[in-house]
Amino acid sequence: MVYIVGAGPGAEDLITLRGLRLLRSADLVIYAGSLVNPEILKETKEGCRILNSARMTLEQVIHEMEDAEKKGLVTVRLHTGDPCIYGAIREQMDWMRQRNIPYEICPGVSSFCGAAASLEMEYTLPEVSQSVVITRMAGRTLVPERESIRSFAAHRATMVIFLSAGMLKELTSELLAGGYGPETPAAIVYKATWPEEKIIRCDLKDLERLAKEEGITKTALIVVGDAAAQTGYLRSRLYAPEFETEFRKASSGGDGDEKEQKTQQIGE
Ligand code: SAH
Repeated sequence: MVYIVGAGPGAEDLITLRGLRLLRSADLVIYAGSLVNPEILKETKEGCRILNSARMTLEQVIHEMEDAEKKGLVTVRLHTGDPCIYGAIREQMDWMRQRNIPYEICPGVSSFCGAAASLEMEYTLPEVSQSVVITRMAGRTLVPERESIRSFAAHRATMVIFLSAGMLKELTSELLAGGYGPETPAAIVYKATWPEEKIIRCDLKDLERLAKEEGITKTALIVVGDAAAQTGYLRSRLYAPEFETEFRKASSGGDGDEKEQKTQQIGE
């Protein structure tokens, strides 16, 4: 059996309970060495074989999994964050299926969630943005033209941009060309939740300069959009006293002032 496990964004205790249980039971662990925190590997049992996939081809990874499967061993394929985001797991699953290797996926905390926690940020602020665009600049992996940064920027929603910290000049000009103003609030989170995490909050126009000053060229997420300022939002309807939900009756009281407050913008 092969378990594809999300290791979380970095901090060793941000793996799920299920992921940890699987890791502890594994006979073979193949981990994404460039981004998985090696501290997590201390959880493996004695005698567990540990391979770093950063030095392997897909063929080698599959070969190791197949070999382990023949011996009846448990393999954990440990990916950074959640495997569904830029995890290159589809090809692994297809190869495994062809070889009759059973597999299962255990989700993890993606780095975009880790970064939000570090930034103390809610990406979806009422009246500011209700959408999060997860994307990247084209690199060795191409991005379809219809998904250009420029076209997403036109929505002026919250954007979380992966795999692009080394291309901030191009990224910034695409975001500006798409419709974000130069003063749009932005942030860079380097190694979110790792001990060496770095956070920069700035205006979009200063992204490149500040990242350069901090020497950040990889393992970072860029967050852009008005939500990054965390101001100017409307109070959530879900927790408003007069709003009834399946779980809570509306409270009747309240004077004019309170009503006023409910519809007032918060944070400005
Ligand atoms: N599956 C992963 C993403 C893998 S792609 C996830 O869910 O997070 C690798 C990219 O993710 C990096 O280039 C960087 O942009 C981002 N990344 C991964 N871990 C990160 C972290 N701890 N802090 C900031 N960015 C991170």
